[in-house]
Amino acid sequence: MRFVVLFLCRNKYYHFLMKFVLLIVAVLFSITTTSPAQTAKDFAADWDKQHVSSLPPSNVRHKDLQKYLEQLKKIGLKVAEVGRSYANREIYQIEWGTGATRVFMWSQMHGDEPTATTALLDMFAFLQQNRAQPWVREMEKALTIRAVPMLNPDGTELFQRRNLQSIDINRDAAALETPEGRLLKKLRDDWSPAIGFNLHNQNSLTTVGKTPKQATISFLAVLGNAGGKTNDGHERNKRICAVMTLALENFIKGHIGRYDDAYNPRAFGDMISAWETPVILIETGALHNKDEQFLVKLNFVAYLSALKSLVDKSESAANPKIYDALPFNNSGNLFNFIFRNASVVNFAETSEPFTADVAINAERRREGESAPTYIREIGDLSVFSGLEEFDAKDFYLIQKNGLLRMGASGEFLFYKKTRKIDWTAKDLEKTFPPDAIFSNGKWTRGEKLLKKL
Ligand SMILES: [Zn+2]
Repeated sequence: MRFVVLFLCRNKYYHFLMKFVLLIVAVLFSITTTSPAQTAKDFAADWDKQHVSSLPPSNVRHKDLQKYLEQLKKIGLKVAEVGRSYANREIYQIEWGTGATRVFMWSQMHGDEPTATTALLDMFAFLQQNRAQPWVREMEKALTIRAVPMLNPDGTELFQRRNLQSIDINRDAAALETPEGRLLKKLRDDWSPAIGFNLHNQNSLTTVGKTPKQATISFLAVLGNAGGKTNDGHERNKRICAVMTLALENFIKGHIGRYDDAYNPRAFGDMISAWETPVILIETGALHNKDEQFLVKLNFVAYLSALKSLVDKSESAANPKIYDALPFNNSGNLFNFIFRNASVVNFAETSEPFTADVAINAERRREGESAPTYIREIGDLSVFSGLEEFDAKDFYLIQKNGLLRMGASGEFLFYKKTRKIDWTAKDLEKTFPPDAIFSNGKWTRGEKLLKKL
């Protein structure tokens, strides 16, 4: 009362009070009605500051997942064991939000495809801890998100694609012979989500269209039928893929591809779409000289951009042509390493040198583990690219065991061509110490001797 009286009186405090009240009203108005638009760059900055993950995704074992989930439970997230793997490891589901639109996400159906598991953990922690932000509050009211991080914990333990039965769970959607596949189907069938996100990693040498650029992220709005007939869910998913593409172009322009939609009635992406939960496939590749955590951040940005577009309905205005215009993925045009114009001495077969380019690729391994390399192409490789290329024109190149052939180990000895070497010498490496040695993707001798191209 006293305040009102004061307010109504034209005393000397009147102008000051009016200004104060207007300021308060303005602040309240801005908080309640105009929550600042979250951009992809904001999401990336949020991840930088707030991610809870600490391990590189490839090093997250089942026990590490359990520790992360304990952290999520402590901050109030719903985490439940929903099933067991073939080796009886717990499989979990995280739930957040109370909204009517049901979103279902699952990761690491393939044990050696870990990026999304970590990105999901970071996303849930972020959403839970930022519930006071208006846009998060809106999301909480609009969506219920359920996610299964690490559907294949046995494969994860062994860092292999398949489960412990050696079955590819992603080819078990019809047969349902794996406990993990049966669980995934049950979780979908019991809940009938409106949208599904099928989260994988693709080969790091997958390229975008005809370019030698790595496909760092690839999308597919899965159709879910053999006839190519579209539907509302599929069209919506194309628009959401467009939203994610625009978001990620801030960071990896030119490194985004898409998959050709070849219907596979054994694959979960297709079948879950067919069971009326239209699926978006997100495949994470790699970007040369960027670490696994960078890829986690990209996933985090993509998920939040997609989910936010569902909440504020911006997906309905998105242009599906942006998705349609993404080049299809390609493979076989990019190698980890190419040694160009080497004088190859295949001394187990012949001591006559010949000129060839030699390409090798590294196998997929956990971060910190040395990845073995194998010869994947020999000859004129002028139409192909390497993530790293070396000029070997002044060198003889010898495979460590003397036999340069497809599939042999990518361990090479290099000798300057000015040297006289007896290729028939017993224990060549000892008798004629090489000038440079390349082994398991690294120079172990003579680093920088061969010019980088
Ligand atoms: Zn996969």
